[in-house]
Amino acid sequence: METRIGHGYDLHRLEPTGDNGTSLMVGGVEVRCGLQSIAHSDGDAVMHAVTDALLSAIGEPDIGSLFPDTEPENENRDSGEFLLEAMDRVNAGGWAICNVDITVLCDQPKMNSIREQVCENIRRYIVAPVNIKGKTHEGTDSSGAIEVHVVALLQKGKTHE
Ligand SMILES: [Zn+2]
Repeated sequence: METRIGHGYDLHRLEPTGDNGTSLMVGGVEVRCGLQSIAHSDGDAVMHAVTDALLSAIGEPDIGSLFPDTEPENENRDSGEFLLEAMDRVNAGGWAICNVDITVLCDQPKMNSIREQVCENIRRYIVAPVNIKGKTHEGTDSSGAIEVHVVALLQKGKTHE
């Protein structure tokens, strides 16, 4: 039995949407909170950090190498596609995900109000237990950003010889 841990991290600046009504993507869930994520893709920091944690655990190139932000095809791209690619590589390597633990730091939106929805959506992709906890930036200079830390545990091989 082989066990691997992977860590993923992502950060995006949040700005008021003004009148354009853009929603904020948080773990594949559209949140209308008057803020948008500044990014080349859809700016979903939760999806990006989960993708990187999985890729990192199995020793594959990170999300920025697989999907460069200089590629026009990645512009405004649905970040679920990044996670699907990571899952293809997880499955191809014969890995099973034990669990994924996510910490989201942002002042808005409040994670409490969307936690269940986000957990459920990510479970749909990775078919493993997901936990999310939300924290705020406590008034530090990072306010105005969404920051995400993820650890993922993966295993492969027989459970007994
Ligand atoms: Zn990102």
